[in-house]
Amino acid sequence: MTNALHPTPADPTRDPFALARALSGLHFIGGRYVPAVSGQTFPVVNPATGAEVAQAALGDAADIDVAVREAARAQKDWARMPARKRGALVHQCSAILKAHSEELARLIALETGKALRTESRVEAGVVADIFEFFGGLGGELKGETVPFSPTVLSVTVREPLGVVGAIIPWNVPMLLMALKIAPALVAGNTVVVKSAEEAPLTVLRICELLNRVLPAGCFNMVSGFGPECGAPLVSHPLVRKVTFTGSVETGRIVSATAAQKLVPVTLELGGKSPMIVFADCDFEKTVAGAITSMRFTRQGQSCTAASRIYVERPIFDRFVAAMAERVDAMVMGDPLDERTDIGTIISTGQYEKVRAFVAEGQATAGATARVCSAMPTDPALTKGLFLQPVIFTGLTKDSRLVREEIFGPVTTIFPFDDAETVLAEANDSEYGLAASLWTNNLTVGLSLAHRLEAGLVQINQNLVVQANLSYGGVKSSGLGKEASLEAMLEHFTHKKTIMVNMG
Ligand code: ADP
Repeated sequence: MTNALHPTPADPTRDPFALARALSGLHFIGGRYVPAVSGQTFPVVNPATGAEVAQAALGDAADIDVAVREAARAQKDWARMPARKRGALVHQCSAILKAHSEELARLIALETGKALRTESRVEAGVVADIFEFFGGLGGELKGETVPFSPTVLSVTVREPLGVVGAIIPWNVPMLLMALKIAPALVAGNTVVVKSAEEAPLTVLRICELLNRVLPAGCFNMVSGFGPECGAPLVSHPLVRKVTFTGSVETGRIVSATAAQKLVPVTLELGGKSPMIVFADCDFEKTVAGAITSMRFTRQGQSCTAASRIYVERPIFDRFVAAMAERVDAMVMGDPLDERTDIGTIISTGQYEKVRAFVAEGQATAGATARVCSAMPTDPALTKGLFLQPVIFTGLTKDSRLVREEIFGPVTTIFPFDDAETVLAEANDSEYGLAASLWTNNLTVGLSLAHRLEAGLVQINQNLVVQANLSYGGVKSSGLGKEASLEAMLEHFTHKKTIMVNMG
């Protein structure tokens, strides 16, 4: 059943194409789908075919202003609600998200080109998990008593910051939106999200699902482009906190604006994550781990992709060969097809950027490029943004492919001879998001884990973001943490001191 205000179906649907059309031309503000103030829209394209699947509302400063005012209006009542009650409502969202998870997975596969089986379903599951986790944390918004004087009661209380402006990218838009809005809401803030221009639909559908439980105006979503729609959100005077995930360059711009306004900012930026493999590792598990770590099933479009792999020399050749063989066997194809392991690159801009990196690597003297996986043969996919994964060896450490974030299915592998040298090489990067170590010698592993410059180090695994574990980088990879109780307290509340003179 649909109506003009809610043109999307009430029940879960398995038809992402119809859902995309129903979501066309809309923001979500004040508990309702609304068109852009200007009435303008922009196309949303299926990267597997090049076909337009929807039009998104083209937001600008006028839409942002409406959304922020709605969020500010809703925030007063929301903040007054007992924290555990807010948590309980956020927890209820999790059940709705679970009921719609297949629908969300299919829609995200359609608009981003991420394979349904290997990626999109996983993302939908994590989203529900994040709401469940933060929904249980309402009672943890505790303050402290402060020893000041026997006749003065001195306490701290956690208060929300107000309206949070959240800007998200296209690679895992549902998950990153959840990481921002679930803790922000539990802490008593309200939120305006600016979705990524390449993937505005699934997050928009989620707004309507959340609205079935949460009060109108608590969260709002505007779609549009960065400078025209993201920038006015950051600079809006009523926005009291900015949380951003995206590129380093944009992160610097966002951070500068927030600094001018003197509002706190959390930044999750890029990465060039090292994976260090010792000869004593469990070989088969580690080869499989390298494929997962490089996020090949997401076409490498991940900030934590293991795009620099260091392998101890005795197993180097065998490791490279085994990895190439496994990647080669992966099936590239229609993201909505259950057989597909690897879908498409998100956009033509990104496609060309990654191809330029590959061409540069192939033209480098001494480098070897192992191009893996067969291109799809289905004629319906000829205009799709499919790109074969490439494993490079023989590059030098000053290569752009080793220093810069590619954000595509391209990794670089190097041999190493001793732990100190590989540690220095791994740390020789402007980034510091994530790292992994693969060894059965936990003395060596833990010693290096302590000395790797990264926000997250994993030994003998390389999982994506998990609820309850702080996530966030050092150096140019960002500022602040997400995904944990500490992150919620630190980044979505401030501590107020209250003193009562009883003398
Ligand atoms: P990517 O290369 O992953 O698209 P960006 O940093 O360009 O990374 O984009 C991440 C998000 O930031 C997107 O939602 C984008 O629209 C937004 N964005 C881009 N430029 C700006 C800006 N100047 N101010 C605020 N947001 C922006």
